[in-house]
Amino acid sequence: MSIENGFWLQYASQNADDLVDLADDLADNGYRPGIVFAPVGNPARLCQLYGRMRAEGEAFLDPSGFLLDRDGRQQRATNYPWLDPTYGRPDDLDAWTEWMEQSLQHQLSRGFRGGADEPSILVTPSPQLLASSGTAELYTIVDAASAARDSTEGTRECWLGIAVDRDYLRNNARLTELADTVVTAGFPGVVFRCFQSELSPISDRRLLEGLRELVEGCTGADVPIFLPNAGWVGWLAGAWGAHGHSGGLSKGSWFDRMPTPMRNPGRRDSIFEPQLLRHVHWTLHEQLFNEDGYEECSCDSCVTMDGDFDAVEAKIHQIRVAHARSNELRPLNVIGRRRAIRARIDAAVDFRDDLPRTLQDRADARFLDTWLSLV
Ligand SMILES: [Zn+2]
Repeated sequence: MSIENGFWLQYASQNADDLVDLADDLADNGYRPGIVFAPVGNPARLCQLYGRMRAEGEAFLDPSGFLLDRDGRQQRATNYPWLDPTYGRPDDLDAWTEWMEQSLQHQLSRGFRGGADEPSILVTPSPQLLASSGTAELYTIVDAASAARDSTEGTRECWLGIAVDRDYLRNNARLTELADTVVTAGFPGVVFRCFQSELSPISDRRLLEGLRELVEGCTGADVPIFLPNAGWVGWLAGAWGAHGHSGGLSKGSWFDRMPTPMRNPGRRDSIFEPQLLRHVHWTLHEQLFNEDGYEECSCDSCVTMDGDFDAVEAKIHQIRVAHARSNELRPLNVIGRRRAIRARIDAAVDFRDDLPRTLQDRADARFLDTWLSLV
């Protein structure tokens, strides 16, 4: 037993109803993507949407334990008790175990799932582990997760949740300990999140190399690894064997970024350009459209837009493309997936390099060279 591989939809508090409708819509064009739910927004609405989703397909709650290390909001604490910042950060094995049990019990509770089936998998929460704090907390978290799993799991499948900062993947000593610990922890799967400082597309070679080492380590040991909120990096990680990834209707659901004072770079009319594997401004998209070798996207959203930008359809277009890319990978084994992903990146490099210099500069797709070198 495991969960479906490939692209999943990522739940956010905004446009939540639309996301569940979208799963129905996508199911008509290939497999039905599951939804990764998150402890955000109104719990009654989450419960109702979970019920609708679970009746038709797969779903689980990413308990998002790292929120314990973010600015606390009283509302969230009331609805999702393990995220209560006033609770204090657990500081020993017993306290972390209890904290995780609280979250696992919530995932099984009627308050979360109403009358619907239990989630496809349970996931232990993880605070955000910092490379600068050493690995002691990593070991405590994994031990606590094992204890919490043993007391709650029964015949269910419980995956290990781990959240780290970027330096955990960039520092060789930390990375080795992280990969060894996660692979040998004895869980049937891993739900992994890494928070970094770059905006998408991610071009930090060391970070991506670190992620590759972790993903390949898990895959080699037959421990599936799922990357919520990883968006296109999650797709790239499919080349290394990653089991699944997610993205949704909010911009923040396509990559995990450390909170910064500049959280909202401002509204831009941009669209994901499948041939460059990144977002571009709509005016640039219109120019690319007229270039030789440009392949028009034929997804329902692009047909609806018919050449006029629409912010909602543009978001759904990105989801449709991610779902379609996943459709083509799912029947393949890891070697086949790697080959197919490499071919996509290769084609993107060719398209970029054939563009006139000014468009090449504006498209700013140098990250593709890094990606290509890693698959
Ligand atoms: Zn499209």
